[in-house]
Amino acid sequence: CFYPFIQLNGYVDEIYLNLKGSNGTDIPVLFNGKYYEETDVVDCIFVHMGRRIDYEQEIRKAKILVEEAYREKNVALVKMEELHLELEHKQIELLKLNNKLEILSIIDGLTGLKNRRYFIEKLDEYLVQLKQTNCLFSLLILDIDHFKSVNDTHGHLIGDEVLIQLAKLLADFFPKDYTIARYGGEEFVVILPLRNEEESLKEAELLRSTIQSAQWEIMKITVSIGVATSNPMDTTSSIMAHADKALYSSKESGRNKVTHATFQNI
Ligand code: GH3
Ligand code: MG
Ligand code: MG
Repeated sequence: CFYPFIQLNGYVDEIYLNLKGSNGTDIPVLFNGKYYEETDVVDCIFVHMGRRIDYEQEIRKAKILVEEAYREKNVALVKMEELHLELEHKQIELLKLNNKLEILSIIDGLTGLKNRRYFIEKLDEYLVQLKQTNCLFSLLILDIDHFKSVNDTHGHLIGDEVLIQLAKLLADFFPKDYTIARYGGEEFVVILPLRNEEESLKEAELLRSTIQSAQWEIMKITVSIGVATSNPMDTTSSIMAHADKALYSSKESGRNKVTHATFQNI
């Protein structure tokens, strides 16, 4: 059957033969041939069947290894997916924490008002805006009178309560677009947007009298206030210095007073 096939197709892939060894033993072989027209030669290969079984076993082993590798790959993919989700979760947590930190970094811990750092940044922004658009503003510094005696008489914790109550009064008194901050200790600062000399003095005077007549839970307090209105030449420190000198003038003239830097030629 070999020759008809080779003549018809030019090759024979597999023919199984049983050869006889010189000692009469059976030798099963796989027989493969190919005809080369140019040389009119038929090349034949005999492969011992035992060898073929070895090859098949190797292929089977390789298949098992490939399947195992696929399984491991799937497990690794699932693990990777889990890690990815964990990473996303951690990133969200980090964002939340950053937001919290950002808020904490601009808030005064005792009163909940903005802190000095936030206030200075805002004041810088107002000064830049003033130079660009000519939008004036006024600045108010408020200091509790004889606050040391509140602490000395009632203790530091009660002093803290007074600061918290005053902070609440300030937040209720001024519109939401005003920047109100605790500058430090018993000093508070307020930026009054678009308020000129007369308007800011009037608001500061109303605030002073509101504090004087407020219902204080522990003891009555009064405050001294210094006010300054921005001019285009101002820097953060110059406008602060004007308001601070005005405050000093209020203290000097007896406390529970309001002074505007412009009207005192400060
Ligand atoms: P003046 O009218 O001249 O402002 O007198 P004063 O007593 O208010 O000013 P002084 O600077 O002598 O004292 C300020 C006091 O404020 C002293 C300090 O213990 C107190 N103080 C500062 N920060 C806090 C705080 O966070 N809590 C409390 N309870 N007291 C504070
Ligand atoms: Mg003070
Ligand atoms: Mg004081």
